[in-house]
Amino acid sequence: MSTIRLEPCVSIDFDSSTLDEIVTKAKDWALMHGVCMRSRQNFSPDSINFAPFVLVPSAFPKKEFEKAIELQTLVNEMIHRIANNYEFLKSTLAITNTVDPFTAQLFKIYTTVQEEGVSQEECCCGLFRCDYMLDRDAVRQVEINTIASSFAGICTRVTRLHRFVMQELSHGDKLQQIPENNALEALCGGMLKAWEIYNQPQAVILFIIEEITYNICDQRFHEFEIRKQNPNVRVIRRNLTQLGRGGASLDAEKKLIVDGHEVAVIYFRCGYAPDQYMSADGCEWDARLMMERSKAIKCPSISYHLAGTKKVQQVLADPGNLERIFDDPDKVARLRDVFTGLYSLDLDEEGDRAAEMAIQNPDKYVLKPQREGGGNNVYGEEVGEVLKQLKGNPERASYILMDVIKPPLLQNWMVRPSTQPMRVDTLSELGIFGVIIGTAKEILHNSVGGHMLRTKIHTANEGGVAAGLGALDSPFLVDL
Ligand code: ADP
Ligand code: MG
Repeated sequence: MSTIRLEPCVSIDFDSSTLDEIVTKAKDWALMHGVCMRSRQNFSPDSINFAPFVLVPSAFPKKEFEKAIELQTLVNEMIHRIANNYEFLKSTLAITNTVDPFTAQLFKIYTTVQEEGVSQEECCCGLFRCDYMLDRDAVRQVEINTIASSFAGICTRVTRLHRFVMQELSHGDKLQQIPENNALEALCGGMLKAWEIYNQPQAVILFIIEEITYNICDQRFHEFEIRKQNPNVRVIRRNLTQLGRGGASLDAEKKLIVDGHEVAVIYFRCGYAPDQYMSADGCEWDARLMMERSKAIKCPSISYHLAGTKKVQQVLADPGNLERIFDDPDKVARLRDVFTGLYSLDLDEEGDRAAEMAIQNPDKYVLKPQREGGGNNVYGEEVGEVLKQLKGNPERASYILMDVIKPPLLQNWMVRPSTQPMRVDTLSELGIFGVIIGTAKEILHNSVGGHMLRTKIHTANEGGVAAGLGALDSPFLVDL
């Protein structure tokens, strides 16, 4: 199958002085507007670098962008329904829980709280990001992030950066092809709605953060936007270790108290990876359980977190399972339309067949463990090697297998700190944000919340911006 190419939105054949001028100006714009992160190489709490970006926005088919936007409230509803379906989560994750200690530990907290009796009135808030890649010319779902979905803050600025660059390049007539992006406003609006539902004017919003926050601007933009939308709301930031070592307590009414502040809403930007629960005494797990028990509104609840696991994604793609979530065949069809091939690797006949298929053609598949945050998947030849090693081993079931999606290639200039801009073949991944608030009984709010585009050099397996291989981008909508 030949690779499809998209044309850049405008000519990118610049002479060297024009390139130098526009890149320098764009970097300064990025620095001055917070399209920035802390450096991993030269870390200092007192300085930031601009985040990697591509110089001009990437062409993206308008029809597929709109399709993904229109689908988001249904994706939100799907996660909400799964999260509130104990039997579905239990049966789906049963085998995973026997071979993946991290998922098992999350599930244990979930079960503990369920058994203690969660009130039907208890509210959860989901701030999701559903990621897609183009497979030839149609969007296919890569994954749904249900915890710590990042970049809503920075990507709204990247949209503006690209509008500025296009104007500087004398293409100001094309700005309407770069869609508005309200991701930050939408996500913070969601947290504030949850805060209002909690209904205690003195209560704060607690951000759960990592030991060191590299993606600081993105997080601070959320904090500042909350203050902007509601000047009465305070945000406090703590890491799991601090909370687990006495920094938090539950009172008799299950109010979560952190340094004297009652917490209305907990926003997790951490807590999705095993290395975030590293203390030998398990204090981070204690903190997670305490928060889950509390009446603070969790973004996300542990049930939303579990509904976002890769195993759930794979099981949903199996025939008949979406129908366990939705009665409406139209909803099932719309969701299924964006799924790509996903295969169980459980230690049974079906799993053996999938493993054999991937050993024969490793390049066609991605092997994924139950992890989040990038850098965990297996690609190419290694897919076959890992699966051969896992033959007959129950641990194979901790992975799922997925068809590789091959998006069209597009040339762009990639701009990174401390290196010359590089003209490279790239490919992109579109993320659509969604906000949902609801109880086990009803959905109180469900909306789409803006978008982000990440673009990577076509030879890189993964394009995590925080991880270092990707660059921030925005879509330039075109009719194909
Ligand atoms: P994580 O939870 O670590 O972000 P993802 O499923 O999003 O896991 O995978 C990480 C990255 O790997 C994606 O952002 C994408 O660049 C690449 N990737 C994942 N699945 C596929 C796929 N099926 N085809 C092509 N690339 C993929
Ligand atoms: Mg991802």
